[in-house]
Amino acid sequence: MLSVRPPSVDSILRAVGDRAGGRDRAAVVAVARSVVAGERGRISSGSRPRSAAELGEAVLATLSDLDGPQAALAAGHTAAAAKSADAGLTPVINATGVLLHTNLGRAAWPAAAIEAARLAASEPSMLELDPETGRRGRRFSAVEDEVMALTGAEAALVTNNNAAAVALAVALAGRGGVAVSRGEAVEIGGGVRIPEIVRRAGAKLVEVGTTNRTRVADFEAVLADGTARVVLRVHPSNFAQTGFVESPDPAELAAAAHRHGAIVIDDLGSGALLDTARFGLAHEPMPSERLQAGADLVTFSGDKLVGGPQAGIIAGRAGLVDKLRRDPLARAMRPDKVILAALAATLRLYRAGVAQAEVPIWRHVCTPAAALAERANRLAKATGGRSTRLDSTVGGGSLPGQTLPSWGIALDGSGAQRLLARLRTGRTAVVGRIVDDAVVLDLRTVEPADDDRLAEAIRAALAG
Ligand SMILES: *Cc1c(COP(=O)(O)O)cnc(C)c1O
Repeated sequence: MLSVRPPSVDSILRAVGDRAGGRDRAAVVAVARSVVAGERGRISSGSRPRSAAELGEAVLATLSDLDGPQAALAAGHTAAAAKSADAGLTPVINATGVLLHTNLGRAAWPAAAIEAARLAASEPSMLELDPETGRRGRRFSAVEDEVMALTGAEAALVTNNNAAAVALAVALAGRGGVAVSRGEAVEIGGGVRIPEIVRRAGAKLVEVGTTNRTRVADFEAVLADGTARVVLRVHPSNFAQTGFVESPDPAELAAAAHRHGAIVIDDLGSGALLDTARFGLAHEPMPSERLQAGADLVTFSGDKLVGGPQAGIIAGRAGLVDKLRRDPLARAMRPDKVILAALAATLRLYRAGVAQAEVPIWRHVCTPAAALAERANRLAKATGGRSTRLDSTVGGGSLPGQTLPSWGIALDGSGAQRLLARLRTGRTAVVGRIVDDAVVLDLRTVEPADDDRLAEAIRAALAG
């Protein structure tokens, strides 16, 4: 499916021209931005895309709606809001080639998720109200239904992030033992370590096997005598082992755990909902596969390969999920309605079979290298840089060591660090990296619509 983007804010402002009268420019820009956001939602729900001229009229209509006694006040508010939005998080162009860059906020949301979040934030909704009975119902169960449909799980629960999901799930062990392979007792990043999460949950860490080789028999030994009641598998996420290594087959491990009355929690990290092998990458474990292999619960992030908002997703056996739902900690880990709405909208794109076109992370994964080479050539001409072949990485703790062929711009000359800093601090902030003493800007992670702004930023940094 072709992904249609709405016209840019700039082209809409051009269509408005000088017809906005004496209004504050920041207010006009803010209205144009919100018209574009609304248009994205309309497009992703199947409506006919409108031209810049039509959207210009929509901006003028909104502005004239503001022309009541409230006008000055509203325009002032909008301008102030636009300014304060600008003063907060600095937007950047991610030209690092790292698709899920933790320091840049990981996944950018699909347009449908942004629109769903906007609606959830701006209007009351049946978040916890059952429309049939008028009584309190389950909190936004639609998102859980989406998870169940995509993973085949009996039940699902959403937390603030995957670290919370793991901490909550591991607490099922009570004061008992949690068996973890020595090869998987990893640090996730930011100093967060699996052994510490297990201990903080009040459970006892039972290390099994060795750093490089762990077999089902190693787990059997601690399951048979009841030392461990929970088996925790952890995706090693940000590192890969090669050589003399062995880890248990998921199905065999689950069967062994179940023989001894134990449960298996599989922390997948990213939890791909599309098969990464289809895109020339190694196969990343999918939640449905691991549940089919016998895992009782799987956990994964909402903002890694799922490509939506930050969230933790727990999917698996209904009895266990219900137990977690009743845990008082679940309330402390409860996401906001905006996140739940955005996550549900993201997951719906997978169910509709349009994730590849609509979810930015997958759009970036799928872009053919030839298309990137063409853009690199164009940008090289526009900036005086050199078009260069690069390797992008997935990042976000997914697929360590795996790369996608990419293209970008190399800026040669001395003072690469200084140039990199100038790009970072320019009017349009750009984050790149250094390869062989040259600043390189990888286009796989840059939206094509941002190419012109990128060229302008490069020219400004080179001139500065
Ligand atoms: C990233 C990751 C986590 C933490 O997930 P967040 O959503 O960032 O909290 C936990 N486990 C694994 C294996 C991971 O890769």
